[in-house]
Amino acid sequence: MNIYSSNLVLFLGTLLITLSACGQQNADDKMINNNIAEVPAILKTEQAWKSLLSKEQYAILRQKETERPFSGKLLYNNKKGIYTCAGCGSELFNSDMKFDAHCGWPSFDNEISGNKIKKIEDRSHGMIRTEIVCSACNGHLGHLFDDGPTQSGKRYCVNSLSLNFKENIQKTPYDTITLGGGCYWCVEAVYEKLDGVIDVVSGFSGGSVANPTYQEVCIEKTGHAEVVQIVFDPSKTSATEILQVFFTVHDPTTYHRQGADIGAQYRSVIFYHNPQQYKIARDLVDEFNKKKVYDNPVLTEIEPFRVFYAADEEHQNYYMNNSNKPYCKMVIQPKLDKFEKIFKDRLRKKSH
Ligand SMILES: [Zn+2]
Repeated sequence: MNIYSSNLVLFLGTLLITLSACGQQNADDKMINNNIAEVPAILKTEQAWKSLLSKEQYAILRQKETERPFSGKLLYNNKKGIYTCAGCGSELFNSDMKFDAHCGWPSFDNEISGNKIKKIEDRSHGMIRTEIVCSACNGHLGHLFDDGPTQSGKRYCVNSLSLNFKENIQKTPYDTITLGGGCYWCVEAVYEKLDGVIDVVSGFSGGSVANPTYQEVCIEKTGHAEVVQIVFDPSKTSATEILQVFFTVHDPTTYHRQGADIGAQYRSVIFYHNPQQYKIARDLVDEFNKKKVYDNPVLTEIEPFRVFYAADEEHQNYYMNNSNKPYCKMVIQPKLDKFEKIFKDRLRKKSH
């Protein structure tokens, strides 16, 4: 695809006008109301879930099995933080809701508001119980009972393996998204210039090895993609705008390839951090393909964020520190020029 594709420029231009007029406002309203019911379920093939989850997690979240009592890592966890769905990252319980029910599974007396948990009648094993599942990904969590010892009278009995734990969440006003658009040096350089971006870090995500090195990722041993992790201020920019920039500065139609860079580490991928980001990404990709904005189908993968490993210091701010190198002049500079042309009103004000 020609990076100055007039189709894309026209499409993004129209989209920017529409979104600044009303689209973003609606998205914000939904966040405030926590109306997760409007977020469609995260649909994946069984094969995709199998590759994302551990064998034990797959058996519980997707096949409704139950872990052995007293076996879960989070059973005695009493740190302050938030418990999220291990399938999709949706925030389900906070630590103030946890209590020791002596039953062998993590138990909670309440849930984070916003219909994040669905209740379903379960008549298996000759009993009538209430099954609880994650509203966003339909992952099985456990059961809900009316015998809780606290004021709510509820006991959410949850498999530890259905949950992840985020410790000491300082509710900042900032949001985070993780994007793979080929060589991270290029993508990082662009976002450093977007107004509302607080921090951009180059690194790796989406693989199966902890703490991968650049060399390991380069020879495609670890399954990671080169990514940038972007922290942004939603009062100045938005996940929508971040993704518009993303689709402007890389080619999402080439499989495991960006220009001369070839390999799965250069795949086009969005690691979303919440169901709202998933919906924005899904809608954008569907819209691109429906309107044939690109000459070829958009192949961008949309995956739940799991873990990010920052690259070594020498890879951070690479363009800023190496702008005279040929790669920066030939590959990064044209992307920056294109970004600055389309998003000229959205550039970060020069620091004073
Ligand atoms: Zn979920």
